[in-house]
Amino acid sequence: MKRCVILLTVVVLAGGPATAAAGQQADYEQLAREMYAELIALRSTADMPGNVKAAAEAMQRRLIDAGFPAEDVVVVSPHPELGNVVARFRGQAPGGGPPTKAPVMLMAHLDVVDALRSDWEFDPFELREIDGYFYGRGTDDNKAGVVHIVVNFIRLLEEGYVPDRDLIAVLTADEETSSDGIKYLVRERRDLVDAAFAINADAGGGELFNGEPNIFNVQAGEKIYVTFHVTATNPGGHSSRPRPDNAIYDLTMALARLSEFTFPVDVGEVARLYFGRSAAFNDGQTAVDMRAVAQDPPDREAAARLSADSPFFNAVLHTTCVATRLAAGHADNALPQTAQATVNCRVLPGQNPDDIEVTLREVIGNDDIEVTRVNTPTASDPSPLNDEIMGILEPIVEEMWPGLPIIPTMSTGATDGNYARNAGIPVYGVAAIFGDPNDSRAHGQNERVGIKEFYDAQEFWYRMLQRLSGGGK
Ligand SMILES: [Zn+2]
Repeated sequence: MKRCVILLTVVVLAGGPATAAAGQQADYEQLAREMYAELIALRSTADMPGNVKAAAEAMQRRLIDAGFPAEDVVVVSPHPELGNVVARFRGQAPGGGPPTKAPVMLMAHLDVVDALRSDWEFDPFELREIDGYFYGRGTDDNKAGVVHIVVNFIRLLEEGYVPDRDLIAVLTADEETSSDGIKYLVRERRDLVDAAFAINADAGGGELFNGEPNIFNVQAGEKIYVTFHVTATNPGGHSSRPRPDNAIYDLTMALARLSEFTFPVDVGEVARLYFGRSAAFNDGQTAVDMRAVAQDPPDREAAARLSADSPFFNAVLHTTCVATRLAAGHADNALPQTAQATVNCRVLPGQNPDDIEVTLREVIGNDDIEVTRVNTPTASDPSPLNDEIMGILEPIVEEMWPGLPIIPTMSTGATDGNYARNAGIPVYGVAAIFGDPNDSRAHGQNERVGIKEFYDAQEFWYRMLQRLSGGGK
């Protein structure tokens, strides 16, 4: 349904502030809620590609109805049954003419992990407001992000805002599964999405402490995911006549060596900033150790203490490889012919998975044991928080949440941002939605986002899109 708004025909100077009229923000909050409900109602899972495409087409239609030229709002995909929305908000150089600055990409995804009615307290595919929260599958991951990008494109266009560079919204269809959409766009359709850097609504956020904003997180790096099969083989035989050589023993001895091995401490720029800034929010030995690992070179004893205290700190400070599955033998009364472990490695950004494989083989220390890769890793260089990005984020965080620190984080999982980084486009995860860090329900039951936090993030994106493109205060 087309909204009844007065389209402002005033065109402000490139880079000038949006001509926000009093009372309009509430209109756009209402529009955001309406779009949110529309998206949540679409069960846009991998098994229901028709719904993912419907979500893409709904966002395309809203942008075109708001006044974006149809040729600037396209739905493209390597798979005909899916659709990725690419929408270009065209900029102008100050004083007119084509922009001199490269575009910025704004990323979010339209698909969700499925949810079963029987697992939830209510229908996951109906947006609900209960006790200060929006509930529904995708409220957090990542339909709020889709709404924040689309609604602010519409608001800025209607307010007559002219960015000083192109802003490109990229809403992907398969982030939760293959990420084929973003891979295709950065590799095959670079003309559509090429950008100086990207802001990803699907990562980063803010931490609430006792209900109050405490830390503003920007995701600036992701670990690289690579899985190996480690396989010992043996001719086998009758278990009544055991021999010293045994596939299960060979494999378990190799795994025992792996269990005692730690990859070297590696504190990249993102982790250095993370620990350096987090020290102020900790006390005692932890604070001292956080400052010590943020030094160059990092203090190894401090790193060891932090790693022993917290699997998260351990994962931030090291590449890790851990056994996750085991399969061996074929009969109770036979010597095993095969014993296989699955070893999942999370490689720090900037490290080469080939080198990790070499180290893994050395640790296993048995040339008769086969090591094969299960997946092809996608390298992902970190995107350190440079002056440009901090100059955009810091003033907005200060306006909205005075005194709050911006702390970069590195995810141990992977988002579409991984593939954009791999293609040479730095990516910053800036969802700007605050929540309780110990109550993340993405992919889980009764997923929710605070209503105030949802609208605060909408306002954050409104200001950020302007700051990214020459506007704002
Ligand atoms: Zn997501």
